[in-house]
Amino acid sequence: RFCPTIAPSRLEARLPVPILRLALPSPLRRLFDYRAPANTPLTALQPGVRVRVPFGRRQMIGVLVALAEHSDVPKEKLRDALELLDEASPIPPKLFEFCLWVANYYQHSQGDTLSWALPVLLRQGEPASTRQQHVWLLTKDGHPDDPRLERAPRQRQALKIIAQHPAGLPHQLIGKLQISKSSLDALQDKGLLRRETRRITATRHHGSWLLEAELPLNPQQQAAYEAVRAGQGRFHPCLLAGVTGSGKTEVYLQLIHRVLEAGKQALVLIPEINLGPQTLARFERRFNARIALLHSNLTDRERLDIWLAARDGEADIVIGTRSALFTPMKSLGLIIVDEEHDASYKQQDGLRYQARDLAVVRARQEELPVLLGSATPSLESLHNAHIGRYTLLKIGQRAGNAQPPKFLRLDVKSRPLDSGISRPLQQAIAQTLQAGQQVLVFLNRRGFAPVLLCHDCGWIGVCPRCDSRMTLHQRLHELRCHHCGHVERPPTNCPQCHQVDLRPIGAGTERAEARLARLFPEYPVLRIDRDSTARKGSMERLLITVKRGEPCILVGTQMLAKGHHFPRVTLVTILDADSGLFSADFRASERMAQLVVQVAGRAGRAEEPGKVIIQTHCAEHPLLVQLTEQGYFAFAEQALAERRATNLPPFSHLALLRAEAHKPGQAEAFLEQACLEAQQLCRLNASWGHIELLGPVPSPMERRAGRYRAQLLLQAQARAPLHRLLAAWLPQVEQLPGSRNVRWSLDVDPMDL
Ligand code: ADP
Ligand code: ZN
Ligand code: ZN
Repeated sequence: RFCPTIAPSRLEARLPVPILRLALPSPLRRLFDYRAPANTPLTALQPGVRVRVPFGRRQMIGVLVALAEHSDVPKEKLRDALELLDEASPIPPKLFEFCLWVANYYQHSQGDTLSWALPVLLRQGEPASTRQQHVWLLTKDGHPDDPRLERAPRQRQALKIIAQHPAGLPHQLIGKLQISKSSLDALQDKGLLRRETRRITATRHHGSWLLEAELPLNPQQQAAYEAVRAGQGRFHPCLLAGVTGSGKTEVYLQLIHRVLEAGKQALVLIPEINLGPQTLARFERRFNARIALLHSNLTDRERLDIWLAARDGEADIVIGTRSALFTPMKSLGLIIVDEEHDASYKQQDGLRYQARDLAVVRARQEELPVLLGSATPSLESLHNAHIGRYTLLKIGQRAGNAQPPKFLRLDVKSRPLDSGISRPLQQAIAQTLQAGQQVLVFLNRRGFAPVLLCHDCGWIGVCPRCDSRMTLHQRLHELRCHHCGHVERPPTNCPQCHQVDLRPIGAGTERAEARLARLFPEYPVLRIDRDSTARKGSMERLLITVKRGEPCILVGTQMLAKGHHFPRVTLVTILDADSGLFSADFRASERMAQLVVQVAGRAGRAEEPGKVIIQTHCAEHPLLVQLTEQGYFAFAEQALAERRATNLPPFSHLALLRAEAHKPGQAEAFLEQACLEAQQLCRLNASWGHIELLGPVPSPMERRAGRYRAQLLLQAQARAPLHRLLAAWLPQVEQLPGSRNVRWSLDVDPMDL
């Protein structure tokens, strides 16, 4: 089903040297043919093994995907592979098949897709076996008093040190202990010392899996837990829709406990690595288990070690962000995707995969339950639950004694806004602080102000490389483009009229922070956004103050909305919800609703009830009214009905071909050519089913980072016709003459249009 390999037994009879069809690290959507190295036994040619090959004047490491009897490459051009690097595929066969499935689904090069499953060191040819460690031990006859060492004080000293480590002295300590290589050699020659090679394994302390008691589940948690359990050992996708603070994590933990007891492993995906330490701590408090956290600060060696440990069954739980989905697992028992609605599960460059959806694919292939959890499930997943593909599990109330937060829409039409903060809001903040509680101020915009404007002539600071305005970052004294990273000093005089009255318009988190600090000087104001947490450890430092529980104000972006637990926050304020109501992007309202509910979910998670104030200019907007009065699920039903009426995902399927070029018009010209090819294919293959081609049109922000961008949208009622077209079309697109001047990419199931 996945890769057409020829059974070795059939080849043996006829072919002395089979052709290896390799996936190489290249964007090209094809395999590369090589002759097998001479004298390779056919049994060694397993799919997945790594092969070193010549490529141009360099060497490359490819992965064997299939064997063939002959190649279309002319005999004299066909080259010999240099060597096989593995005796067996380092990637478990199921994960290998999964990668090929992914490459096919996203129409991406197999070589590049496989590189998501192979750690860097393996791509560079490192052995794919658990790390070996060399240790030094005395032999049976070895003794520091050996008479032969009388005139060799350094050897004697070395032997003395090693004798102090009866379990063996690890080789990497030799240098630190100032033992020289020549001493080691001499001692070995005399038969006093020996070297042993051991595998490094993370061993578990045996006994119970639990380090702390499990909480007794409430009836809804119990029902969800049992529903997932019922699908043990088979493909069983579940959507756990539990309001914020409803105890979803407790359900995950108890399910994982059962998985561990069954001798299996669990894979847990989290949206943002900032949540990693918190999640890891919670898991480590609960389990006596080997838990690995995959994060971006790992060295290549650490990453490989975790990869091998997971593959060889020496890690019980693996936690990580989207790419952790490609971790090999010896005996996977359960996949959990926490905050499944989160946009960060979609990779936005290279292999543009959606890890949440792929988690379901992997679970289907490995025949296991997969649990997607969120307080605000994506419309895609909700739809899958509605049509019976996923089992829907709901937890409608908060765990323990916590009450759901109360919403208030604060109409700020024609009210003065002081750095984005209205009068009534200031009063509410003051009251909360005086009551000894904490306040969270949410504003999804970094920097001081999104616009710098000349009051005399109307000049606006725009990015020289993008069709966008630059954000003023006052503390850094910079104008920054948030789209391409361009930075410049803010001018002191208007570049156009040379007057000096330049004004920041609108407010970002930096401005809100400054204003709040002036309004409430006796309380700490903590800003949490990408700028304030860029340095390592700064997030933890900021959170320590919050955890202490004294009254304070937290100002931040969506970073604050994700997963954190702030028991002392009782007032959440959303400074601006309006942009989500009026965007050209059809997903904007869904995102706004998720953000509002998630931020609101930070309030009142303990004994004290929480209140949420939403500042808006459209307090009567039906979506906002529905969301705040009837909750996320009522909103989601309405939003799904709208998607159905307008035939948008999840009621249709999309693929987006994007192109960008240095000169205006080039990207569109290329997409025109591509569009003609697609039209022709559709005409010739009418039986595939109808596919709508929309565009090409300039991208919403046409110029970005100095390039002109355009896009062509493909829309189909069903997936099959769309994928049939893509498979036939992309090889033609690769060959188009216009492709030389442009950078192009395909996005299957795009999130941003
Ligand atoms: P979620 O993951 O849905 O946001 P959590 O699992 O973090 O919710 O639970 C929120 C709080 O409720 C935590 O402090 C947790 O310890 C507590 N909690 C969860 N389940 C129970 C339960 N069955 N009984 C009492 N407290 C619970
Ligand atoms: Zn001016
Ligand atoms: Zn820019």
